[in-house]
Amino acid sequence: MKPKLAFFDFTGCEGCQLEVLNFETELVELLQHVDIVNFREAISEKGQDYEIAFIDGAVTTESEIPRIEKIRQQAKILVAMGACACLGGVNCLKNFHPMEENLKIVYGANACEYVWYYNTIPARPVSAVVPVEYELPGCPMNRYEFIKLAKALLLGKKFELPNYPVCVECKQAGNVCAFDRGEICLGPVTRAGCNAICITNGRRCWGCRGLVDDPNVNSEKEILQKHGLTVADILGQFRLFDGYLEVSK
Ligand code: SF4
Ligand code: SF4
Ligand code: SF4
Repeated sequence: MKPKLAFFDFTGCEGCQLEVLNFETELVELLQHVDIVNFREAISEKGQDYEIAFIDGAVTTESEIPRIEKIRQQAKILVAMGACACLGGVNCLKNFHPMEENLKIVYGANACEYVWYYNTIPARPVSAVVPVEYELPGCPMNRYEFIKLAKALLLGKKFELPNYPVCVECKQAGNVCAFDRGEICLGPVTRAGCNAICITNGRRCWGCRGLVDDPNVNSEKEILQKHGLTVADILGQFRLFDGYLEVSK
């Protein structure tokens, strides 16, 4: 019997599920070893007898709470996929404002009459609602890490995320540091695993993979010192993807 996988979207752009579909060759190979029984972006079946559930998106409405609890009851293994599911992601920007104000800004002045309809609540990562076995960070999640995790689950092997900052991969790529271009970069406190793709392409790191474990110890302090900054200075810039941490302190 092949293990049964299911994919579920909560609040997000569903870009992480697209990343799975974009991985055409490896996905075909994976399908030889698993059955996908629920994946709205790809198939019309709605199987409920899965063992491994992949969740894309954050929990941002009342109605999503019983939905994720039901999925948790069924799945032996629950995987949060992408910054929205792992961190709350950009959805948590709404947590800094009253929910009714958010409704007015997005849906217009009359929206508050329909609060019951939108049932919006402060956004949360999946792990803030139910236990999660694995997380695949990033916006979108890294499709190579998805395949690595899928293989580890099939083979019963250990899966671990890199626990060093993006700066390590950035230096390996030979990039000019964004601080030297006069920009603030979150690479010193952000978990590696993306090969510093944004900096390699002329941008800076916005921290979409979340904090490395214990950033105060692991951060690339010499880069910060060179530019007169501390870990605390750049942690303050973490709101775009990691605002949940800030409001839940
Ligand atoms: S993490 Fe990014 S790509 Fe994935 S669902 Fe959220 S916004 Fe979309
Ligand atoms: S601070 Fe940013 S640009 Fe500089 S080395 Fe680290 S990741 Fe690269
Ligand atoms: S460089 Fe930073 S923002 Fe870009 S993918 Fe990596 S962790 Fe995310």
